[in-house]
Amino acid sequence: RNELTRKSERTYAMLKPEVIPKMGKILSFIEGKGFKFNRMMLTKISATRAAEFYKEHLGRPFYEKLVNYISSGPVLAMELLAPSAVRYWRINLGPTDPVVARSDAPNTVRGLFGTDTTYNAAHGSDSPEAAARELNLIFNNLSSHYESSYTIKTLC
Ligand code: ADP
Ligand code: MG
Repeated sequence: RNELTRKSERTYAMLKPEVIPKMGKILSFIEGKGFKFNRMMLTKISATRAAEFYKEHLGRPFYEKLVNYISSGPVLAMELLAPSAVRYWRINLGPTDPVVARSDAPNTVRGLFGTDTTYNAAHGSDSPEAAARELNLIFNNLSSHYESSYTIKTLC
């Protein structure tokens, strides 16, 4: 196959706090779709960093609730690799509202594991530029926001 069409891209994926107890099933789903887990970190994001992460939504009615929720418990931060990873992960993530996902795209992370628009299981970058910003924000300069976590850089 043409090497160019197989060239990997990276995206930022994040399992949100409410699905951490069932992360195994979700990781299995992601693995089954052919993504490579390049970096992975179970961590807690501070409210300050969550506000920065979601700054494009500043001023929206759900912004505060979203920031409070994301900083309320552990998240699983992941750098996923795949051809067209950004778009491919958004397709597998499904629509923002899991109720919509269950009717329109049931075999997606949100369709299978989401509850509602707040508790919608996972995050996915919406562009390669957003992926770069989000990966940098979460995986770089860790000391300011983590207490105990472990970063894996896979060698495969
Ligand atoms: P997505 O995560 O699908 O890219 P957005 O970027 O529009 O969706 O919103 C970011 C996050 O904000 C969503 O994943 C969801 O957790 C939350 N959110 C978006 N819209 C709403 C809403 N109407 N009510 C509550 N939370 C929302
Ligand atoms: Mg978004």
